[in-house]
Amino acid sequence: MKRKGILIVVSGFSGAGKGTLMKQLVHTYEDYALSISMTTREPRPGETEGKEYFFVSREEFEKTIREDGLIEYASYCDNYYGTPRAYVERQLEKGRDVILEIEIQGALKVKEKFPTALLVFVMPPDAAELKRRLEGRGTESPEVISKRLARASEEAEGIEKYDFIVINDRLEECVERMHVLIQAAHDTPLRNKELIDDIRKELKTLC
Ligand code: 5GP
Repeated sequence: MKRKGILIVVSGFSGAGKGTLMKQLVHTYEDYALSISMTTREPRPGETEGKEYFFVSREEFEKTIREDGLIEYASYCDNYYGTPRAYVERQLEKGRDVILEIEIQGALKVKEKFPTALLVFVMPPDAAELKRRLEGRGTESPEVISKRLARASEEAEGIEKYDFIVINDRLEECVERMHVLIQAAHDTPLRNKELIDDIRKELKTLC
């Protein structure tokens, strides 16, 4: 039986290093497809159109919402972020696992629509490290950093809704850990309904 692709939803506080982690994961293993989101936020220095995000105006984003072109979207620190539908559906049909790096509101919407989605929360080793990473990035103003830290505090309230926590300490170990968790998720009954139904039917014919 051909293995079906699943959605892997990865969330984590801004500055937790999940972007680097996901890039390394898709670089190391060819099994995964990384979804590129659409956003109304301005590109940071070094970010390019179509690589980190599709950068669009609010009008364009709202038009995509009306056309049902996103599988989920959310507002985060005054900007819209959303997951384009077409790419995700195409990759899943091909049997590839698709990684969505999104915040918590979007993660919960995805879980509602796709109950087999796997939700992983990436955490920094401690909160002080998070602040250091955000400041060290040097791309955000102090106001934006404090908004993002406030948002992290809100998001921390929802961690129990996720299936797994991964602590982002050493990059290579974290990549391995993510890969193992995703592969294990493929073997849960929740993600093998067809296989279970088939064996039940076959067993009935043998009684
Ligand atoms: P940043 O501005 O730091 O790139 O992203 C801010 C937050 O938006 C992060 O928590 C990131 O995971 C989240 N995000 C990025 N793309 C999406 C998306 O398509 N949908 C949702 N709901 N959140 C997203």
